[in-house]
Amino acid sequence: MDDIVSRLTRELGPDAVLLGDDVRARATGWGRPGPCLAKAIVRPRTTDEVSRTLRLCWEAHQPVVPQGGLTGLVGGTVPAEHEIGLSLERMTAIEAVDPATRTMTVEAGAPLQAIQQAADEHDLLFPLDLGARGSCTIGGNVATNAGGNRVIRYGMTREMILGLEAVLADGTVLTSLNKMLKNNAGYDLKHLFIGSEGTLGIVTRVVLRLREKPKSHNAALVAASDFANVAALLAAVDGGLGGTLSAFEVMWEPFYQLVTSEPARNRPPLAYGHPYYVLIESLGSNQETDTERFEEVLGQAMTAGLLADAVLAKSRAERDKLWAMRDDVEQLGRLAPIFTYDVSLPIPTMPGYVDEVRAGLAAQWRDPKCVVFGHLGDGNLHVIVSVGNGDLPTRRKVEEVVYGPLRTRGGSVSAEHGIGTEKRKYLSWSRTEAEIAAMRAIKQALDPRGILNPGKVLEATEIHARA
Ligand code: ZN
Repeated sequence: MDDIVSRLTRELGPDAVLLGDDVRARATGWGRPGPCLAKAIVRPRTTDEVSRTLRLCWEAHQPVVPQGGLTGLVGGTVPAEHEIGLSLERMTAIEAVDPATRTMTVEAGAPLQAIQQAADEHDLLFPLDLGARGSCTIGGNVATNAGGNRVIRYGMTREMILGLEAVLADGTVLTSLNKMLKNNAGYDLKHLFIGSEGTLGIVTRVVLRLREKPKSHNAALVAASDFANVAALLAAVDGGLGGTLSAFEVMWEPFYQLVTSEPARNRPPLAYGHPYYVLIESLGSNQETDTERFEEVLGQAMTAGLLADAVLAKSRAERDKLWAMRDDVEQLGRLAPIFTYDVSLPIPTMPGYVDEVRAGLAAQWRDPKCVVFGHLGDGNLHVIVSVGNGDLPTRRKVEEVVYGPLRTRGGSVSAEHGIGTEKRKYLSWSRTEAEIAAMRAIKQALDPRGILNPGKVLEATEIHARA
């Protein structure tokens, strides 16, 4: 047996270390059913066990790949044969909900949905929400700075984290479980770990910021005849709703058709034939007055000619149906093989961007499919492309078409999915040389042996070369 593996088994007990078929049977990410190639998966039960695991791996120069709910889309949790996976799956405790400070303290392996429910039971809200809520874990949400459906109102994960505990590459436990909104006592170290994809430390516990639970919900689906109207509508509803706008999700017509036609379970709430469909949601404090205002704002937009058509959700069931339609990304599988992208760019540049991507695809492939939808209020589009046979050379060509036009528009190759291994090659298309040099310096300072998730976000070889 490999030396480090037997040392870990002695240190944590055999039930904490999976080997052989137990490892092979595991998935490694969304749409990656396995086999997992890692030489072992370690499943610590406590922060202390994470620390002891990393101390042994540090001494042995053993690379470690942290794993949460395995719903990531960019390969950030995929281990190679010589690597050890470290899963937080046994650290799922919701340790405390504190209504007085409006905080919740949880272990990193707690599933997002369990956290949402725990907040709800205390009449509070943890606003992070995304399609993978049932499987993803808060540790993964933190490591990737997850976005999701309500960023326009509550921000990304980063804005919802008050404190955290992380274990550094050498096993040092960095406990920074701050519960205050304000704390400017020096560097705010939590931000180093949020969005670092497990390359700087392994998050073990988190203090979450909870919000008041909304007492009113309003939602509508509207159609618009051109993009200028969509942009004007965003400004109109954001201004008119007085800070209660919680989602502004845009579906280009091909996406709308996909999620409202057989075999999808939803039927179209509005007729086809419009280029854009927008799901608008508002969360407020008084159902009666908020509904009145919501209808008034949409009525004004209609009068101003911004809307071609609209349907209001009259009940919770109708609202849930609109969201179920928007969230039914499983339908994208009907276009398989597909390549999925997650980009952000300034809203006014979006129509030109989508046109350029479509033209770029049409120049290289016959009958390309390009389906676009996204959190438009956040400047975030998901671009789904179906061309060719889905092989790697095709993927690389499509990446050039999708990422290339971002460079002149000041866009990002990753809005909310992270870099992992899949986008590493394009990091320099969205970050300057100086920014990447600073990232390397931070990595070098915190993990000079390069054992934490090597090759994710940044090239591994250069880190190792300096170790
Ligand atoms: Zn998204």
